[in-house]
Amino acid sequence: MDALKMMDMMEQYHIPRVCTKCGGVMIFKGVGEYRCEDCRAVDYDDYGKARLYIEKHPGATAALIERDTGVTQKMIRRMLKDGRLEIKEDSRAFLRCEVCDKPIRSGQFCPECEKKMHQQIEAKERDRHNKALGMGVGMGSTGDEGHRRFIGKDMF
Ligand SMILES: [Zn+2]
Ligand SMILES: [Zn+2]
Repeated sequence: MDALKMMDMMEQYHIPRVCTKCGGVMIFKGVGEYRCEDCRAVDYDDYGKARLYIEKHPGATAALIERDTGVTQKMIRRMLKDGRLEIKEDSRAFLRCEVCDKPIRSGQFCPECEKKMHQQIEAKERDRHNKALGMGVGMGSTGDEGHRRFIGKDMF
């Protein structure tokens, strides 16, 4: 990973750069934890906040984590996907389907809703495809005839 991409990623994690208490520089201590080099105040980035919260509240949902820590569900999902955050095997209610709110283990949707969504997209696509095909046939036959007639009259 190049430095720029790394910086971009760090930006998204909302790393504390300056101490909120004294304005000192926050020094990275590891696993999302930072400490002010002047007053020793401790702060966390999104990863640290989420990690700490899950430690204290095993099985918490992403919605709860967002409410209590301010870390967005999108960010939590990303950290899960990146393998930065780990959830316990029994924490089934950690994520919820964005459509039906059913508990899921990963991603944004439950398998049923994901399938339904794909079917909707496919139906829409099929509809568009059929319309285009129908229009194409109609236009093609008349257009072709006209074209042929035109050529026949003027070119030969
Ligand atoms: Zn400080
Ligand atoms: Zn669902």
